[in-house]
Amino acid sequence: MTVDSSFFCSMHDVADVGPEQLCDNLLALGLTGVTVAATYHAARDLRPRGSLQRLVDLPAGAHYFPASPDYPHGLEPSTPAPFGDSDLLAALRAATAERGMRLAAWTVFGFQERLGRAQPGLCQRTIFGDPSTSDLCPANPLVRTWALTLAADVARHRPDTLVAESLHYAPLRLTRRFLPLDAEARLALGLCFCVHCVDAARSAGVDVDAVRVWAAVTVESAFAGERREDATPKPLDELPEAVRAFLTARAGVVSALVKETVELLAPSGVALRMLDQAAVEPPALGPSIVDEAFRSGVDVAETARRSGGYQVLGYGEDIDDVARIMNDYRHAIGADAGMRVVLRPSWPDCIETHNLEAKIAAALESGAEGIDFYHYGFASHDALDRVRVALRGLR
Ligand SMILES: [Zn+2]
Repeated sequence: MTVDSSFFCSMHDVADVGPEQLCDNLLALGLTGVTVAATYHAARDLRPRGSLQRLVDLPAGAHYFPASPDYPHGLEPSTPAPFGDSDLLAALRAATAERGMRLAAWTVFGFQERLGRAQPGLCQRTIFGDPSTSDLCPANPLVRTWALTLAADVARHRPDTLVAESLHYAPLRLTRRFLPLDAEARLALGLCFCVHCVDAARSAGVDVDAVRVWAAVTVESAFAGERREDATPKPLDELPEAVRAFLTARAGVVSALVKETVELLAPSGVALRMLDQAAVEPPALGPSIVDEAFRSGVDVAETARRSGGYQVLGYGEDIDDVARIMNDYRHAIGADAGMRVVLRPSWPDCIETHNLEAKIAAALESGAEGIDFYHYGFASHDALDRVRVALRGLR
C-alpha cells in the first residue's frame, strides 16, 4: 500500500535546490507530499546536507513568503532575505500540484518573539504580571485578528492543509532556572493572567480570585525552595476546582479561535490541522498526554471535531512510548476525525530502520491516515535512507 506521507521542511530546503527538484527528491524517497514552514520562530539549526547554509540562524517571528498588505497596523510580518523576493510557497504549490503531491503549510502562530518583544501588551502575563514576550496570548482580540490574517495569507496559496503550531497558549518557557519546580509550580507559572484571560474566565463563571491565590501560593512556595523537582505530571482531577474551571475557560478561548480559523479557511478548501507541543515539553498535567495538551488550552477532542483532523507528534525513542502517545490521541480524537503522526527518523529518536518501521506500523494500527517525518533539512543521509527503506517496505 502507499501511505500518504510527507517530510517537514523549511523554505531554506526549497531554496537550496528549487521547488521542482525538492519535490522530485521527496518522490524518490517514496513520499507523497511536502509540509513546509510558512512562518517560524527563532532557532539555530544544523543542516548536514544543506548547499546554501550548513548552520542556519533563523530570526525571531519570521515569515517565509511575500506577505499580504492586510495585517493590522504595527503587526506587519518580517520576511528575511531572500524569501521576500519571489514567492517560494506559491512555486512549491505549483510544483506539488504538477506532481499530484499534497502540500501542507506549517504555520507558527503564538510563538512570536518578534511581535511579542515589540508589543508586550499582546503577550501572556504571569501571576505577577510579567509578560512572556515569546508568547502572544490567544485571548487578546488583536492577536486573534492577526492570527486570522496570517491564516488567510497562507490560505491564498491554496495548500491542502494548514498545520497550525502554537495556535494555543504556551506553557512556561524558561531559558534556565536554578530552583526546583514540581508539576504544579510549572503549571502555575505558565498560566496567563492578562486582562483578556481574566475577563474570559470571569465570563465563564470562574472564581478567578481563587485561581490567583492558588497560583501565587504555589509559585511563592517554589521560590521559597519548598518544592521538590518532580517530572511526574499532576493528575488533572487533583487540582482545585477553580483551577480546573480556569483551564476549561482557556480551552474555550482556544477552541473558539480554532473554530474561527476553520471557518475562515473553509471557502479556500484548506483544511486546518492542529499540532500541539505536549510531546515536546516536560509534562505538568497527566496522566495522559492529552491532559498535558489541555495545559496549553487545547481540548484535543473538541479541536479535532471542529477541524476534522489532528497532527500528533510521535516523538521519543521507545516504540511503546510512542505507541502510547498515538493511542492516547486516537482515543481523544475519536474515529471520525483524521489523525496524522509526525515521526523523527534521526538520532536521538531513531538510529535503526526497524525502530522507524515499528513506529510506522504502530501509527497505522492506531488509525493514522498519514505519516510525516521531521525534518528534511536537519536529517543526515542515513536518516533519509531509513525513511526510504521503511516506506518501500510498505509497498
Ligand atoms: Zn492572556
